[in-house]
Amino acid sequence: MTPTLEWHGAGPAGLPPGNPCIVCGRPSVEMFLDLGSTALANQLPSRGTDWQPRFPLRVGACSDCGHVQLTDIVPPEAMFTEYLYVSSASATLSAHFVDLAAAAHARAGLTPAHLAVDIGSNDGSLLAAIGALGARTRGIDPAANLAVLARQRGVETEVAYFNEATATRLREREGAASLISATNSFPHIPRLDCYLAGIERLLAPGGVFVIEAHYLGDLIEQNAFDTIYHEHVSYWALAPLERVLAAHSLEVFDVERLPVHHGQLRAWIGWCGERPVSPAVARLRAEERRAGLGQRDALAAFARRVGTLRADIVSAIATLRAGGLAVAGYGAPAKASTLLDYCGLGPDDIAWIADRNPLKQGRLTPGTGIPIVSPERIASDRPDVLVLFAWNFAGEIMAQLNGYRRAGGRFLIPVPAVRLV
Ligand code: ZN
Repeated sequence: MTPTLEWHGAGPAGLPPGNPCIVCGRPSVEMFLDLGSTALANQLPSRGTDWQPRFPLRVGACSDCGHVQLTDIVPPEAMFTEYLYVSSASATLSAHFVDLAAAAHARAGLTPAHLAVDIGSNDGSLLAAIGALGARTRGIDPAANLAVLARQRGVETEVAYFNEATATRLREREGAASLISATNSFPHIPRLDCYLAGIERLLAPGGVFVIEAHYLGDLIEQNAFDTIYHEHVSYWALAPLERVLAAHSLEVFDVERLPVHHGQLRAWIGWCGERPVSPAVARLRAEERRAGLGQRDALAAFARRVGTLRADIVSAIATLRAGGLAVAGYGAPAKASTLLDYCGLGPDDIAWIADRNPLKQGRLTPGTGIPIVSPERIASDRPDVLVLFAWNFAGEIMAQLNGYRRAGGRFLIPVPAVRLV
């Protein structure tokens, strides 16, 4: 969650697309998917009367470099100043950070004297794990509420957006960083040139920059239209990533595809020519070419599948309701906001959504006004069907809710295809 302070145009009035491509700067971004105008996915109102701006949510691909991106950019200040998503909220994610910390610590060869910086450091989960292995740690995140949580666990955190100025300040104060990480904040950057200039300023010789981003190949394979929201301005594949890094003397020296968060690309990046490049990089590059990733035909087919999936979700819930069944939801991640808004579902369709995050309880889903409640409500109301919005964690959640299931409760999993289990 660390875009720079600058952005290109696009206001709530729904201005026509026309931003230059985030990767190559050319005005060649062609829209292929229109999800309508939606409220901001992570801005959960406290009352139904709260004013909620809507912004167009449209996705395009650059006909020059193939980079998939939003065609309309929302000002970052509208999205990242208070942030309700907490990294440590899921057991799967906490385990993921412990793994990443160990791998990054080893690859960067960190000792207690070395500096590790996490951009979009959220509640400090990753840095706490890296620090425990031996390193000086500094977090950077624009959300003041999260910096408080991070400091409570001993992770020093600066409330700021990452850019060249932040990087320069940090380097003057702490020296160069031997490890820089950005997990899930990398797709949030509308002005990559300024961000990568900051990486150039901060990364030590021999240093490692590791990023994780939802992988475009998985997004398309899983029909994961609901992971599209205004914060995610970029949907990364390897080829455009390599192109934008090369302009800053950086290169991907290893790459992994991970199952977490419905399919992630983890790219290990260093200064050009410093490290041997793993064969995995050429392999993925070839796979992307074969699949036509970022090409017009594949994207148009994806857009058609998304339209069909919307119809399937709406009709499945309508059928359950017509049969007199009580339908509620479980989990109110940002992707629930996109799904509900795009499908036009409200409290008449889904009575409430239970979420374990106390910061979300008592609030409403943005734009659609479904109350978010504590999971205790499941035992007291006993709904017939729970829609699982965090479908990427379906296994973990269904195990947690084993009691509900044994008592006859069912789950509706909306994505990649509607399933009632
Ligand atoms: Zn481009």
